[in-house]
Amino acid sequence: MFDRPLKVLFISSEVVPFAKTGGLADVAGSLPKALATVGNEGPGHDVRIAMPHYKGIEGAAYRLDFPVFFQGRAETAIIRESGIEAHYKGEHRTVPVYLVDNHHYFYRDGLYMFPDEAARFAFFCRAVLEMLPRLNWQPDILHCNDWQTGPIPFFLKVRYRHDPFYHRMATVFTIHNLQYQGNFPKETLTLLGVGEEYFTPQLLEFYGTVSFMKMGILYADVITTVSRTYAAEIQRPEMGERMDGLLRKRSHDLYGIVNGINYHEFNPRTDPRIYRNYDVESIENKRENKVALQKEMNLPVRDVPLLGMISRLVDQKGLDLVAEVADRLLSQDVQLVVLGSGDRYYEEMFREIQRRYPEKVGVYIGFNAILAQRIYAGADMFLMPSRFEPCGLGQLIAMRYGTVPVVRATGGLADTVVDYNPATGTGTGFVFYEYKGDAFYHALQRALFVYREQPEQWRRIVREGMERDFSWARSAVEYLQLYQEALSRHLARAKVS
Ligand code: ADP
Repeated sequence: MFDRPLKVLFISSEVVPFAKTGGLADVAGSLPKALATVGNEGPGHDVRIAMPHYKGIEGAAYRLDFPVFFQGRAETAIIRESGIEAHYKGEHRTVPVYLVDNHHYFYRDGLYMFPDEAARFAFFCRAVLEMLPRLNWQPDILHCNDWQTGPIPFFLKVRYRHDPFYHRMATVFTIHNLQYQGNFPKETLTLLGVGEEYFTPQLLEFYGTVSFMKMGILYADVITTVSRTYAAEIQRPEMGERMDGLLRKRSHDLYGIVNGINYHEFNPRTDPRIYRNYDVESIENKRENKVALQKEMNLPVRDVPLLGMISRLVDQKGLDLVAEVADRLLSQDVQLVVLGSGDRYYEEMFREIQRRYPEKVGVYIGFNAILAQRIYAGADMFLMPSRFEPCGLGQLIAMRYGTVPVVRATGGLADTVVDYNPATGTGTGFVFYEYKGDAFYHALQRALFVYREQPEQWRRIVREGMERDFSWARSAVEYLQLYQEALSRHLARAKVS
């Protein structure tokens, strides 16, 4: 399928298991493994990862160091190396991970939200590019992710334009969430090493700021986002976060490839974090996880529908709709378990719902990867009424664990959950369209009706979700094909051969 093995550097600000705040880390920790092992029976593609070396990361070996001339002085970049293990058909490969270390920029508590964010990630991007000749490694593809890596396509096309070492490298820029753009004051131009002539709406200016996200979109050879529906949505003013015009201009280079999940990590048959393992042939064992979850969350152990939510508590996730339907829903014989952290407002909102319905609602505010798995395994339904959702991983994990998603048809939720059709008996979840409490409530009622009144049908929905393939296999092949496309577009545009 591929002419020759590709050399790919996957660049991300967070990667599981080294650092995680959201879905990007899951993708960065699993897609490169799939790329290294799928779609090539020969020697395999040479896939490596680059990320910052944050405080708390341990065990990465010193590899090399060099000065980066940055902000008028030489800043030292230390490159450390670690790896992620990938297994494929009995074979075992290691995906190398290069960690860019600089004490001043990265030895801090937390990953983001510092006042010098522009300098931190401009430095990271420069260090990644400067590292390559010193490793004597020339990737075909630099796969950049989200605003933190937006300067890389820009640097390649502007700063390194005359350096033949970089000429053949094509860039792919993936938008995981357009809402987080990395927009900084005009003075950021000096960090990037360019003058005021770049501060125009055609180039780097974005409504009075310098936008790292815009740099990625403008200068990358190919742009992707994490579902087909989201790729279409962000080209419209309602969901384009003021970048829809720019994205429409690049629509021929813009693709949607849906995320997968790591099928080894997220497997109810082997997951060590859950109370009782099960699979599609032994779904009845899932019940023991429900009982254990009820106990863990201090809820009465009863045979009632148990609804789960695991989410960053931010406006994007449709939490206002949960508030709107809470009383109508919780006046029924159901239970709700919520795991999340984020905005104070929503944390308090859920605590308040719990105070009103202590016998029915369990709330855990914080980040807890073990409890998350126990909810995926123990709940009957999983709620994601998102306002927007680029891809969403929660619904994929839920289906893999036989937990039926109730979702709004936006972004990746629209692309991965099939609404239950009572006429044919097919579907993997319950879907609503309008961003309204009534629409969400109606979908919940449909789900609760089938759960209570049609247990045979319910089992069919559970089974269909568990049997769908949400592994990375298919999407990894799509990425590899797109890399080829990015390379040929790059070479044609740059007229290098
Ligand atoms: P986003 O990237 O917008 O946060 P996704 O659905 O793509 O949303 O990915 C979220 C991931 O983080 C899922 O794997 C989910 O289980 C996990 N997650 C979210 N909140 C928590 C939490 N409080 N504790 C543990 N895991 C969480």
